[in-house]
Amino acid sequence: MKQTLTHIIIILLFSHATALGKTTNIKKITTDVITITPGKKQLQTLGWPNDIINSIAVRTNEGIVLIDTQNSPANAKLIKEAATDYFNDSTFTYIINTHGHSAHSGGNCVFDQNRIVAHINSADEIKNYDDLFLGQTVEYLRKKIYYQNNVLDTIHTENALSDSINESIDLYKFYEADLINNYRVRYADLTFQDKMKLTPGNKTIELSYMGKGHGNADIIVFIVEDKTLCTGNLFHLGAYKTEEMPSFYLNRVNEIDKWIATLSEFLEKHHEIDYVLTTHGKKPFKRENIVFINEYCKAVRDAVKQAKLNGQSLETVQDIETFNSFFSQHNNILRVNNEVKEMHARNIRIIWQYIE
Ligand SMILES: [Zn+2]
Repeated sequence: MKQTLTHIIIILLFSHATALGKTTNIKKITTDVITITPGKKQLQTLGWPNDIINSIAVRTNEGIVLIDTQNSPANAKLIKEAATDYFNDSTFTYIINTHGHSAHSGGNCVFDQNRIVAHINSADEIKNYDDLFLGQTVEYLRKKIYYQNNVLDTIHTENALSDSINESIDLYKFYEADLINNYRVRYADLTFQDKMKLTPGNKTIELSYMGKGHGNADIIVFIVEDKTLCTGNLFHLGAYKTEEMPSFYLNRVNEIDKWIATLSEFLEKHHEIDYVLTTHGKKPFKRENIVFINEYCKAVRDAVKQAKLNGQSLETVQDIETFNSFFSQHNNILRVNNEVKEMHARNIRIIWQYIE
């Protein structure tokens, strides 16, 4: 136990952003790659699956590449300072957004001197953030805070509800401070359709579009020399208790054929992947996790297609029995439990809507 604790303490280097008195957690992945997440206190859970939002910083001999800019300018500043301190370098070459959702692009404006790289569809996703927060007035956010405080006054016991109201008050105050600091939404200035290769100094970074699903602009980012893949919030990996199980997306366009095509091409090209980093996950995954996800997508697509051809019902495919042999073949990745069964049935239902 003591050894494990020491181990954890060694892994988590707390760097202090003194001006704000707040902390960030840094995890070393390779000599040149780290993940940085703001401390729990700065991460409001509203809209996020947990208290982890990893940004990834890559050292190159031309400066730092940063992947994802957090949910707000205030947190992006923490990340920027932490990366600068850790690598002893204040130059940033590229800022990459794995997609346009706020936890990944909300701090773009802190990097106003740098090129922001993202998929061409990211602008629409970033606009939502603009409409919700930084596009608003201080007055609007103050009204929200006032209203929530009134609601809080009517609650006499401390419980999950008062916790969540307090969190939302914190969140609005947070964005109020960002507005007072004159932060503005910043869109990508270097976009691409399907693939892009960046070569900052001694590193090669490959970006591939995943197709619509989690959002409309999801990309995977591979740092070739470090054999490290960044998947953003793709399939919500790492966000659930069974971190390895992919979760598909209700009420969105789900381009499952494109997911499979992109992952297959990527895996064919890269036989060595040492680390797979997700935005909301606690630990890095391995290449075999990506292989599993690709095989799972294929199995789901084929089972749904076949059932529709045979005139079988949705419930027949949702039954875990249908996938027993698939899951037992992959029991080195995950074991079927109730959560997996539930996620699987939901995944099938989502793809059932999508496949003709
Ligand atoms: Zn997202």
